[in-house]
Amino acid sequence: MRSVSHYNTVIPPRLFSRGVFFSQLCRMHTSDDESFFRDALLQWYRPDRRPMPWKAITDPYRIWLSEIILQQTRVEQGLPYFEQFVEAYPTVMELAAAEDEAVMKLWEGLGYYSRARNLLKAARMVANDHDGKFPDTYAGLRGLPGVGPYTAAAIASFAFGRQVAVLDGNVFRILARFYNDATPIDTGKGRKHYQELVDRGLGDAEARLFNQAIMDFGALACTPKKASCNVCPLAERCGALVDGTVYDLPVKEKKVKRRTRYFHFLILADGEGSTVIEQRLEKDIWQSLYQFPLVETTEPGLKTDALALHPNWPDGLPARDLRFVKRSAPMKHLLTHQTIITVFHHFSWANLPSEISGRIILENKMFKNYAFPRVITRYLAEKSLLLDLF
Ligand code: SF4
Repeated sequence: MRSVSHYNTVIPPRLFSRGVFFSQLCRMHTSDDESFFRDALLQWYRPDRRPMPWKAITDPYRIWLSEIILQQTRVEQGLPYFEQFVEAYPTVMELAAAEDEAVMKLWEGLGYYSRARNLLKAARMVANDHDGKFPDTYAGLRGLPGVGPYTAAAIASFAFGRQVAVLDGNVFRILARFYNDATPIDTGKGRKHYQELVDRGLGDAEARLFNQAIMDFGALACTPKKASCNVCPLAERCGALVDGTVYDLPVKEKKVKRRTRYFHFLILADGEGSTVIEQRLEKDIWQSLYQFPLVETTEPGLKTDALALHPNWPDGLPARDLRFVKRSAPMKHLLTHQTIITVFHHFSWANLPSEISGRIILENKMFKNYAFPRVITRYLAEKSLLLDLF
């Protein structure tokens, strides 16, 4: 095992602090380390360690679909969606011809709905501008909506055998730990630095195999909270293991700032079980999905009777005609940069009109025709509201 003298400067452990001494902590990288890293990963890799339906194929459509679905989604959650999409739209041309509403509905529950909108835009771009064929280079793939550097590298290498290395959260973590490198991963400079490291790690290995190996290694072995250091093929030269910094790495410079929003949904129902929904049209979370009329506030603990007086009470809904029935307990939903607290307020509206401008009067059991954010579908399912509004 190498000693800490292998580093540029030896920093006493008590002085180690996130992001402060990163330049001193970076290892002297040698080509020997890089070839060790590459060989150990490739020897460790076995396709059957993490079997997935899109692994053994080179069809760019399915690879692209799987990569878009897996952005910000766990494999177990994404797998059934992948299968449903492939069944409903076996080719990119069929997806390009799909109705927006149908695609949003199929995406329902996966979250981050901008991915579904970009999925459609990209499919139509491939169909209309590329004659139904995916671009076969990294640069060409980057021109498709929703395809960032990681996704382009994954498709270029898996589908077209291009010599490009992927860099995602797993790869950042493995590199930062192996090289005991506290360069922050969330800056442009940091990203460039780690891309250079992984490119050198790839070397002249087959990119398709190397990328699969490093991604599987991050998912199965060098995991964020329970790294398998005791059986790790990289352990012999892993800098973070030597210095005891495994769980301090990788480092981020900026802390995520969260804002809290309070969503008061109004479930307005007549005696027949009809209710009112509307589409979210603003550029905001859940854009183009459906919801119950909403009073959004920034203050916690707003009572139902104060809602009607709130400046954000929706136009066209006469509060005086509504009779309060009940309300749900507040529920908390964590998104990347936002905390959403939802409360569902149930009202009876005896003379619910058959039309309200800008809204849809939904007859009972018709929820299934519209795509709602998960916070709403969960509530409907929990309360069995698909069958009985009250
Ligand atoms: S020894 Fe531990 S920290 Fe280092 S690469 Fe292996 S699993 Fe990751």
